[in-house]
Amino acid sequence: MKHVILGNGPAGVVAAETLRRHAPRDEIVLVGSEREPPYSRMAIPYMLIGRIGEEGTYLRKSADHFAGLDIQLVQDRAMQLDDAARTVTLERGGPLAYDRLLIATGSHPIKPDVPGIDAPGVHTCWTLDDARAIARVARKGARVLQIGAGFIGCIIMESLAERGVQLTVVEMGDRMVPRMMTPRAGAMIRRWVEGRGVKVVTRAKVDRIVPGTPLKVHLSTGELLEAELVIASAGVRPNVEFLQGTRVRVGLGVQIDDTMRTSVPEVFAAGDVAEAAEFGTGKPFVNAIQPDAVDQARAAALAMLGRPLKSTGALAFNVLDTLGLVSTSFGQWGGVPGGQGVEEVDDERYRYLSLQFERDTLVGATAIGLTQHVGALRGLIQGRIRLGDWKDRLLEQPGRFVDAYIACSQPHSLALR
Ligand SMILES: Cc1cc2nc3c(=O)[nH]c(=O)nc-3n(C[C@H](O)[C@H](O)[C@H](O)COP(=O)(O)OP(=O)(O)OC[C@H]3O[C@@H](n4cnc5c(N)ncnc54)[C@H](O)[C@@H]3O)c2cc1C
Repeated sequence: MKHVILGNGPAGVVAAETLRRHAPRDEIVLVGSEREPPYSRMAIPYMLIGRIGEEGTYLRKSADHFAGLDIQLVQDRAMQLDDAARTVTLERGGPLAYDRLLIATGSHPIKPDVPGIDAPGVHTCWTLDDARAIARVARKGARVLQIGAGFIGCIIMESLAERGVQLTVVEMGDRMVPRMMTPRAGAMIRRWVEGRGVKVVTRAKVDRIVPGTPLKVHLSTGELLEAELVIASAGVRPNVEFLQGTRVRVGLGVQIDDTMRTSVPEVFAAGDVAEAAEFGTGKPFVNAIQPDAVDQARAAALAMLGRPLKSTGALAFNVLDTLGLVSTSFGQWGGVPGGQGVEEVDDERYRYLSLQFERDTLVGATAIGLTQHVGALRGLIQGRIRLGDWKDRLLEQPGRFVDAYIACSQPHSLALR
């Protein structure tokens, strides 16, 4: 059996290793388009801070790791899939045949469609190449304008602040992290970062960038800002161009079933490129975080070997450290129609908790400043645990969610009732 894996990020690497573990004699080819050894984008902020070198971002540390596992590593780009002939055409290497194919090509950052976006000094923060370019300019005192205050934008913020730049963040939503945080939580994060010297402009778009040194950035609010560096962190799109004209169905990403199989039986997908069913709603969802990419990759590898595991869906789950303020959101954090919710806010201590219920089940939560025990929130949601009269107690005292978890996930325990 010949397995071809397109994409050598965390999903591709874990899939290849899982295949090898369970199929010692199969042929495994791992194709990646970047010129680096397989690495983790998640580690880029640590590299920008200087906590690790480039090698610290590599997913596997020894140079002969893949050869030792008899996994063939190919640096090339998939240009076109022929799902009838079961071949992928590579940019340089030509046609590559497979018996089973895994699409793990991840996504790429979207650059806002505005004049000047390709000017020198405007970068995304997605690849090691991007990180090298940013590190050259983001020096102490440099003026940096970041477009977007989403999940990745907030993660990058920490490394930029640590480099001592003067940072302005421009977000078109009404608050920071609008797709992950409630209005109160987004406002709290904003107050926190402003208190650490970051300028935040919300409800604003970048209209135009005038090339030069410095770059001149025109905002939709009429404001004109100067910067030595602009970082576009305005969302991502899956890498699916090579699937055009094939039977592989693509929506928000490559559509997979609960065993990671696509609409073509011998083709599978995992990671940031894959669109799965959201855990709570069953709606199409791309959960672009590394732990999910890796879980899906393991499941996909087993399915490629004919041993599918059924997934219960991708739980929306984010943990974010914004300049030292840790926030989390789970599931349907914005609430559900006809559901009930409660918020507990401690502005002074930067603590926040929001719980969202459907009947007597917790379906979503948002937390700030709670670093311990948030796993209990995940457990309550993912276990679809019936809270009974604990729901009313939590509406009164949301901070008792750990007690609720212990009491309700072990129904025979009366200790905390
Ligand atoms: C700065 C930054 C910080 C992050 N921090 C976190 C974090 O704290 N927590 C978290 O959970 N997630 C974080 N993420 C997201 C995380 O990195 C992704 O969820 C993860 O990388 C997904 O893994 P993947 O293997 O699906 O895709 P990727 O890591 O994107 O790997 C896909 C690979 O496929 C290659 N490829 C693309 N197209 C082709 C093609 N046509 N042919 C061949 N190869 C191709 C790409 O070059 C790439 O090497 C961060 C991302 C960034 C950019």
